[in-house]
Amino acid sequence: MTTQITKDINIAATALQSGKVVAIPTETVYGLAGIIYNQEAIKDIYRIKERPLENPLIVHTHSAEIFPEIAVDIPEAAYKLAEAFWPGPLTILLKKNTVIPDNVTSGLDTVAVRVPSHPVTISLLRELKQPVAAPSANPFGRISPTSARHVLDYFDGRISCILDGGACSIGIESTILGFEEGFPVVYRQGAVTAAQIKDVTGNVTVKTASTNTPKAPGMYPRHYSPRTPLVVTDDIQKALAGFRGLNTVIIGYSKMCRDLIAEKKIVLPESGNFEEAAAKLYGTLHYADSINTDIIIAEKFPEKGLGSAINDRLIRASKK
Ligand code: AMP
Ligand code: MG
Repeated sequence: MTTQITKDINIAATALQSGKVVAIPTETVYGLAGIIYNQEAIKDIYRIKERPLENPLIVHTHSAEIFPEIAVDIPEAAYKLAEAFWPGPLTILLKKNTVIPDNVTSGLDTVAVRVPSHPVTISLLRELKQPVAAPSANPFGRISPTSARHVLDYFDGRISCILDGGACSIGIESTILGFEEGFPVVYRQGAVTAAQIKDVTGNVTVKTASTNTPKAPGMYPRHYSPRTPLVVTDDIQKALAGFRGLNTVIIGYSKMCRDLIAEKKIVLPESGNFEEAAAKLYGTLHYADSINTDIIIAEKFPEKGLGSAINDRLIRASKK
């Protein structure tokens, strides 16, 4: 199979409608999409990604109008959150309607749904009139893709087409939120922060893989990993001293990192804002992994705003 990179929505729509798996751009990361009602396409997503079957997929649609089709007993807060953050990087877990095939939700009684904020994919979803299921377009456990090129590097010859929507503007996966006894719980941190959610719902609990035993399926402590070992540190100079003699690459953001004289160093972000750091994070990890070093040393970000989500990804990338 030749993998076509295209900007033409109709080509992607036709491929999806004929049951194929297509890579699509979103503002978070690229996804590997199939129409949710097509059993073969959903099976192919798991096969191509080598994703464990117990790790459910996020349903992507173009508007919150989908709620009654896919879910039941929808809390009022879900509507409020959709109103506040969609289109955008917030995935909401709801009690599933029976029409949702079990292989999309790994047999769970919940369904995950989100409206991505990417003009190309929103147009595609409008054209399709059916939702797609789309996990990130990377082999299981590897770094998520934030460009069409990353997807091609992973899946050339294995998927029919990649819809090219440019570099992902947010660059890390969506925030995942569910409800426990009616109360909102964040299971994965992302660009929509717990503080922003609290402003809408009045309360929120955070239970993520890096801070807590995960309740959400698929929240493995290890994830998003480069092949090169990665260590996360508060003190880049100390870590560097500890690995003297090894060929290292440093990723950091602080003044200490900027001032450091090192052969291989990537300063993240140049402008000092965390939005930019998140957008560049996976591209930087892909690059750091490609330049043949013994170890990647990454500096921990301050635990505030997007810094928490970035640290979550770095810590999970560092697990063996
Ligand atoms: P991703 O790999 O970025 O597509 O994220 C998928 C993650 O969303 C899964 O690993 C789960 O943690 C969560 N998720 C997806 N669907 C469900 C569901 N039906 N119930 C609970 N969590 C879900
Ligand atoms: Mg993923």
